[in-house]
Amino acid sequence: MRCWDPRIEEMPVADLRKLQFKLLKTLVYRVYSFSSFYHKRMKEAGFHPDDINSLEDITRLPFMHKKDLRDTYPDGLIMSEQEELVRYHVSSGTTGKPTVVGYTKNDIYNWTESLARALTSAGIGRGDVMQVSYGYGLFTGGLGLHYGAERIGATVLPTSVGNTERQIELMQDLGTTAIACTPSYFLHIMEVAEKMGVSIKNDTLLRAGVFGAEPWSLETRKRIEDATGIKAYDIYGTSEISGPLFTECYVQKGIHVWGDMFLTEVIDPKTGEAVEDGERGELVFTTLHKYALPLIRYRIGDLSIMDSEPCDCGRTHPRIMKILGRTDDMLIIRGINVFPSQVESVLMNIPEVGDHWEILVDRKGPLDMMTVRVELTERGFSDKIGDLMKLKKKVSKELKGVLNIAAEVDLVEPGTIPRSMGKAKRVTDNRKV
Ligand SMILES: [Zn+2]
Repeated sequence: MRCWDPRIEEMPVADLRKLQFKLLKTLVYRVYSFSSFYHKRMKEAGFHPDDINSLEDITRLPFMHKKDLRDTYPDGLIMSEQEELVRYHVSSGTTGKPTVVGYTKNDIYNWTESLARALTSAGIGRGDVMQVSYGYGLFTGGLGLHYGAERIGATVLPTSVGNTERQIELMQDLGTTAIACTPSYFLHIMEVAEKMGVSIKNDTLLRAGVFGAEPWSLETRKRIEDATGIKAYDIYGTSEISGPLFTECYVQKGIHVWGDMFLTEVIDPKTGEAVEDGERGELVFTTLHKYALPLIRYRIGDLSIMDSEPCDCGRTHPRIMKILGRTDDMLIIRGINVFPSQVESVLMNIPEVGDHWEILVDRKGPLDMMTVRVELTERGFSDKIGDLMKLKKKVSKELKGVLNIAAEVDLVEPGTIPRSMGKAKRVTDNRKV
């Protein structure tokens, strides 16, 4: 199937904008009338729902931040009565108070519909066996993909994370054709499969992977695709706006964000002003359909680039490019901004470097020190000191070329760096401790 919902997905841009305007107006009136939080916020900003006369007028509304969800914990922003809610998801709260998202039956329906469109656009559907190797539970990844894959008629294999050898056996025994997990967990699956003597390319039917919940580079995509022969698609979403929602289509040139469900803006994180298409900025989402927990101009903290031109696949909805990282993942080393994803891009282009790496940041006296620990491949790991010195120099030089800052490079044996089952922890910043 080419499109899950062609009427919406291929809607002329002018019609899509008209629809967005209508939905935005309805949303603004609703929250102004029925939510004390929004009413107060809008009054303080000198805003009245009558001020929305075009789609662009959205910029007159104040931004929302994760702090707003935390300050109103657990349910200050939830606009539905508890008996209307059919589910809660709760964020892990590793970086502060957790956030709670409530869903009505219709919210779950739309979330699932968004993923049904997305998975179909990536060529997944009836007849596929989809292994969902995201965590099931309070985290949105597992259940989100589970219902999305069921909706399109795929057969779901709900393995969740962990027990990797068994995952690989089941993949072979039940003929898994598509998998969803974090890219770092898939790299781990690849490694374990190799140890078991299983070639994903030749001994399984796997042909597609849907990878996300952490930033990953185009270079990592190339590695995965070359090693396994599968197509590796990017998936995006966060719990605050439902969970995983959008993927790349088969063209693999950006992630379609469904305009009838979300209004997406890209802003300069410093000034809050809109940036042009093609320029990097922070993603801001307004939910046009969510009932229990609507969000208006929610600053998600992820950095990306938007392309509003219709895609080669025929879909008219805007696309966002690979997530560069979160504004709060950015490291400032001796005054220079460094994103872990930039380090990944450099490393994954060097054939002797393995798939696992980490960044350690420390402060020696007044100076920030960044060390990049890099695991070598079996082939890259040489007993000859001279070879290793040469490689170390090469890695340092290429990192400096991209980051504009010198980093200490530490080459380590294959298998040294801890593997992750969920989101990989790539950075240890000892300056904060
Ligand atoms: Zn497309």
